[in-house]
Amino acid sequence: MIIVMKPNAAEQSIRQVVQYIENKGLKTHLSCGEEITIIGVVGDKTRLGIENFASFKDVDRVVPVSESYKLTNRKFHPQPTSVKVGNTVIGPETFTLMAGPCAVESEEQLMCIAKAVAKSGASILRGGAYKPRTSPYSFQGLEEDGLRYMQTAARETGLSTICEVVSPQAIEAAVKYVDMIQIGARNMQNFYLLKEAGRSGLPVLLKRGLSATIEEWLNAAEYIVAEGNPDVVLCERGIRTFETATRNTLDISAVAVLREKTHLPVIVDPSHSTGFYKYVPPMAKAAAACGADGLMIEVHNDPPHALSDGPQSLTFEKFEKLCTELVPFAALSGRAFRAAKESV
Ligand code: PEP
Ligand code: MN
Repeated sequence: MIIVMKPNAAEQSIRQVVQYIENKGLKTHLSCGEEITIIGVVGDKTRLGIENFASFKDVDRVVPVSESYKLTNRKFHPQPTSVKVGNTVIGPETFTLMAGPCAVESEEQLMCIAKAVAKSGASILRGGAYKPRTSPYSFQGLEEDGLRYMQTAARETGLSTICEVVSPQAIEAAVKYVDMIQIGARNMQNFYLLKEAGRSGLPVLLKRGLSATIEEWLNAAEYIVAEGNPDVVLCERGIRTFETATRNTLDISAVAVLREKTHLPVIVDPSHSTGFYKYVPPMAKAAAACGADGLMIEVHNDPPHALSDGPQSLTFEKFEKLCTELVPFAALSGRAFRAAKESV
């Protein structure tokens, strides 16, 4: 439940309510808007006499929150959250492009891709060092060496970095080298890993599970935030449906639904959702037009020879063209995004 305080409620009134709730053994979460403060309550509400709140000074109303996710719920926190990742921010003011190879294949390959995506307008370099592959015989990633190459490429280009983690050991290694960790679709409900990510101290990109509902996804995000890490970004990457023409089905409506249900930033991955490079630009534009906070796109120097996800990877030329074409789409939702070419 949330307690909505009257406009410009006195500090002391807010403190009194918070103290009352915490004395009953429940947790509070404050969201301070320009005029209105909202006190979110997490815990067993039966211990609170809801009717008692009417007698507290400056309390406007008590609203039940029926959803099981609380800290990630927009009712708890009406203003959109911004998440800082290295030297860039993902949030309502900006349109963030994360780009790079599916897998880090070598130091040279990564450096060459990093320079190309930075030049075209990306602000975050993606690259998998731990690859959760369908077949155990497929390339599994360079692990800590891959993370090290991410750091070197970031230092050279000024890009921030993101890397998927698949185990607590991978998280331990990632915190030494990258700015953001990614929990992939296959691990969205690996609750132990989510808790570890919540304790990592790094911002987390949480991809939607292959067959996860939005409610399950938000509960997964809640696991991370409940560990004390508020810096979570959601990534729609397509879901399993009966359709086989694309690798997955991009649920573009998830962006609009999440906007209503959560304050967390939302980005879209048109690469894994379509599985085919030709479909990436139109879906990227659709995501920008409907108000996504950014995109994650796979880019490769030589897609036909990529060790992972070549068919859905954009060449440097195609990525640069897309960046330029995205400018008016990002502007539709009032966001700052400049393809690097324009700013030169
Ligand atoms: C990835 O981004 O490299 C990846 C494996 O994506 P997903 O978890 O969405 O399949
Ligand atoms: Mn991939």
